[in-house]
Amino acid sequence: MPKTADRLTGFTESVIRAMTRLCARHGAINLSQGFPDFDPPEPLLVALEKAVRGPFHQYAVTWGAPAFREALARKITRFSGMPVDPEQHLVVTCGSTEAMMAAMMTACNPGDRVIVFSPFYENYSADAILSGAQPIYVPLHAPDFRYDSIELKRAFEQKPKAIIVCNPSNPTGKVFTRAELMEIQSLAEQYDTFVITDEPYEHIVYGPHRHEYAAALPGAAERTIVCNSLSKTYSITGWRLGYIQSSPTVIAQARKVHDFLTVGAAAPLQQAAVTALQFPDSYYADLQGLYTKKRDLFLSYLRRLGLPFTEPQGAYYVMLDISSLGFTRDTDAAEWFVRDVGVAGVPGSSFFRELEQRFIRFHFAKNENTLQAAGERLIQIADPAWMRAHGR
Ligand code: GLN
Repeated sequence: MPKTADRLTGFTESVIRAMTRLCARHGAINLSQGFPDFDPPEPLLVALEKAVRGPFHQYAVTWGAPAFREALARKITRFSGMPVDPEQHLVVTCGSTEAMMAAMMTACNPGDRVIVFSPFYENYSADAILSGAQPIYVPLHAPDFRYDSIELKRAFEQKPKAIIVCNPSNPTGKVFTRAELMEIQSLAEQYDTFVITDEPYEHIVYGPHRHEYAAALPGAAERTIVCNSLSKTYSITGWRLGYIQSSPTVIAQARKVHDFLTVGAAAPLQQAAVTALQFPDSYYADLQGLYTKKRDLFLSYLRRLGLPFTEPQGAYYVMLDISSLGFTRDTDAAEWFVRDVGVAGVPGSSFFRELEQRFIRFHFAKNENTLQAAGERLIQIADPAWMRAHGR
């Protein structure tokens, strides 16, 4: 039998999605793969019903249905202040996952270097391998996950073709400050590097932190390739609607990659999502309020648990430090959490370049009932008798 391609030996299947499958087998509460267990906003569901009966069942324009791109361009300008021409600055993709892959294939030649902060969202190393690029990892240092300017400068001195910035950051919850983004943009300018951003959590940020758009910084629009999605903002992770926003030159090339990867995102879903893109500002304020409540509830259980954890500034993930539980491998710990505690998280090592087994990542994009049930299970760990009965 012929041998499959060598490039596939460099990475495994997604650990995040494997944890969801393990969780389902054991009937645990799934706080691993980040997606809500509540419905999208009602007006969006009504718009979907209407779209299903409309003339939207064949291919849309490959780089995005015109009505969707127009609504999207207006929404991006409303929040970032950037002028966006729906004809020249956008490609609609199947989620930010495709946007990232297409952005990497658009920016990089095989052998090019790409800066990736570590910990990182697990797709980025696979994206680098599939596009033939070599990652240069720059650590984000716990507990506040700041990068060291000297380490970043040293990475740029290796003349990378691109740097990937996930902001707000999955899995650390870090929100990059304007000063940090300016420093990154200025190094990118000096070394002629693309800045590829991944910003699906732009509207899930906890005060006093605020989301800064890297592409909107002075002089940044040309070299920034924004990848984003509607998944988290409108609770529609299954719709797979995302986009790339960049300069007309980059977009002209990215359209080709996208066209041959997927042709296009689902036409009826693009049509329905126009409604979401037109939601008033109050929708986004409410979303922020909703997630702030969820964060506070989940963190209140973690405080009772007594283990250290990262307090997210944005996005909806927490890294729980499980080093005191005595596991040698965090993958064993993650299995124990599913089987014994009944709550699924993701072993932290799948996000780190460094050998780091200290963390399990949990997310809190869930109904209050679900978070309470998960919280009650988690705090059993604080009970020595329960722990002895469960082998720890
Ligand atoms: N972004 C989510 C996470 O980190 C979901 C990932 C996925 O399965 N696409 O869990």
